[in-house]
Amino acid sequence: IPQKLIRNFCIIAHIDHGKSTLADRFIQRARVVEDRLFQDQILDSMDIERERGITIKSQAVTVPFESKDGQLYHLNLVDTPGHVDFSYEVSRAISSCEGALLLIDASQGVEAQTLANLYMAIEHDLEIIPVINKIDLPSADVEGVLEQIEHDLGLPAEDAVKISAKNAIGIDELLETVVERIPAPTGDYDAPLKALIFDSHYNTFRGGIMHCRLFDGVIRPGDDIHMLATDRVFNVEEVGRFRIGFEACEELQAGQVGYIVAGIRTITDIRVGETVTHRDRPCAEALPGFREVKSVVFSSIFPVDANDYNELSAAMEKLQLNDASLFFEKDSSAALGFGFRCGFLGLLHLEVIQERLEREFGLSIVFTAPSVSYRIDLSNGESITVTNPQDFPAQTEIERTYEPFIKATLITPSEYVGNLISLCTEKRGNQLDMIYLDSKRVELVYEMPLSEVLYDFYDRLKSLSRGYASFDYEVIDVRETDLVRLDILLNGQPVDALSMLVYRPNAAFRARAVCKKLREEIPRHQFKIPIQGAVGSTIVARETISALRKDVTAKCYGGDISRKRKLLEKQKEGKKRMKMVGNVELPQKAFLSVLKSG
Ligand code: GDP
Ligand code: MG
Repeated sequence: IPQKLIRNFCIIAHIDHGKSTLADRFIQRARVVEDRLFQDQILDSMDIERERGITIKSQAVTVPFESKDGQLYHLNLVDTPGHVDFSYEVSRAISSCEGALLLIDASQGVEAQTLANLYMAIEHDLEIIPVINKIDLPSADVEGVLEQIEHDLGLPAEDAVKISAKNAIGIDELLETVVERIPAPTGDYDAPLKALIFDSHYNTFRGGIMHCRLFDGVIRPGDDIHMLATDRVFNVEEVGRFRIGFEACEELQAGQVGYIVAGIRTITDIRVGETVTHRDRPCAEALPGFREVKSVVFSSIFPVDANDYNELSAAMEKLQLNDASLFFEKDSSAALGFGFRCGFLGLLHLEVIQERLEREFGLSIVFTAPSVSYRIDLSNGESITVTNPQDFPAQTEIERTYEPFIKATLITPSEYVGNLISLCTEKRGNQLDMIYLDSKRVELVYEMPLSEVLYDFYDRLKSLSRGYASFDYEVIDVRETDLVRLDILLNGQPVDALSMLVYRPNAAFRARAVCKKLREEIPRHQFKIPIQGAVGSTIVARETISALRKDVTAKCYGGDISRKRKLLEKQKEGKKRMKMVGNVELPQKAFLSVLKSG
């Protein structure tokens, strides 16, 4: 395929503005899937994406398009996630493209991630086509959005294309615009191979599979390739393109996007962001790669059944191959045994990993309370980074503590400004700016501690603005704080996995919330269980679970052995999701609800 007939572009937008729906229309329009097999949000292939209706992974697909000019174009499009936790996925998708469709919901207008995504696309020099979606809605305000495109985004409004992804209005015009406006790739076929790995996944039969964008050269099965960063050599077994699924082909050329199978069994041999070239004719220098991802939330994962540790370990490696932003290392806990300390890009990312471990690998796991990364200056002059409450030094050794701060950008209809200002103030926010974007919308800019937005911030923001406010953030620096470790004691025994690092003035409040949650989640035992929250030796909260009186089998009197057995089996089944801590059974749910109790 000549490069002038190729277009590589991504679809970017705030969450729910219709990216996946538009990708559906492109795929249907190209008739690459039979109608009876088609399902909505077809690129969202993970169960969890379908259930939650959100895109987590960027997904590439190549569709043919016959333009008015009579030429058959190959459009390689990438659907991207919209949630702030997954902006790393967007940045990688962007680096495999020459252009971007920036979608804006005609009834919502420009929102926080619309801006964040726009900046990312500008940074990578992409040609940006503003697209107003959902023009079918009665509440659509196309004129208003056109003004926002000029004013908020600084893009010429006359460039905007108006569509309804849902009702398939304007799709052909949009595809023509893509062909006209987005530049064709301009790689050199004859130069040494230079390909960027922008994603990867694991296949049980074929090993690690690389998703690549070729910038120069050609790659074919049988080639010996050299991975520059890891300095490993592999023989190419298969190359192909992304259709719905994978389609092998004879070669991939400069300008194209596709996959490479090379019998890679050791997962760490594939590194997202790295450059692939030929062994015998290498390129002069590596591609710039990606900015390093910085985990912002840390938590430990433990198998509920200690025997599952090896399985968990294998699962983590496979997940990491498909999610380059997941970080982990070994960890152990007195209460929970061996597990992994993990870094995530946010709480939603954490939840997604948890669900994927459970669903894709059938594992039963518990997470410990999430923490941000703290800097601590010790009285001996040293400075350490602590992400795990287990590593928190004794108060007497601490000189000063620092916590990460973010710059948060909120966009809201003006009637909710008051609500949001109170929320941000409560979360220790400091207002930097308040801008009237137009007569109806306000942009608020705050500095806040990252730890404050981790818990219920997003949900509260949504409920205080009836779902209309949007939020984006970036970590800016660290500031001095007053940090303590809150320990949770069950039956007088501290449970290391439930400890958390908190801002001292919030300690008692947090402790009460956790103790109360635990009281609700822990089943009664034969004995009374006190639950306490402690900072050092000071008890700051307390609840009690009273003792159980009845034996569960007592009511099946007499000889009905089979019924009795059934009841006991059922109890055993329930225990699979329990963790013994000292002599107390802690249900998996208890860990989760502690995690969520803001
Ligand atoms: P994404 O988060 O950007 O991928 O958005 P989705 O494609 O998942 O769409 C979010 C919601 O908006 C879904 O309920 C879609 O059915 C709906 N939607 C998408 N495009 C349109 C449109 O053109 N008109 C209307 N009325 N709804 C749409
Ligand atoms: Mg989507």
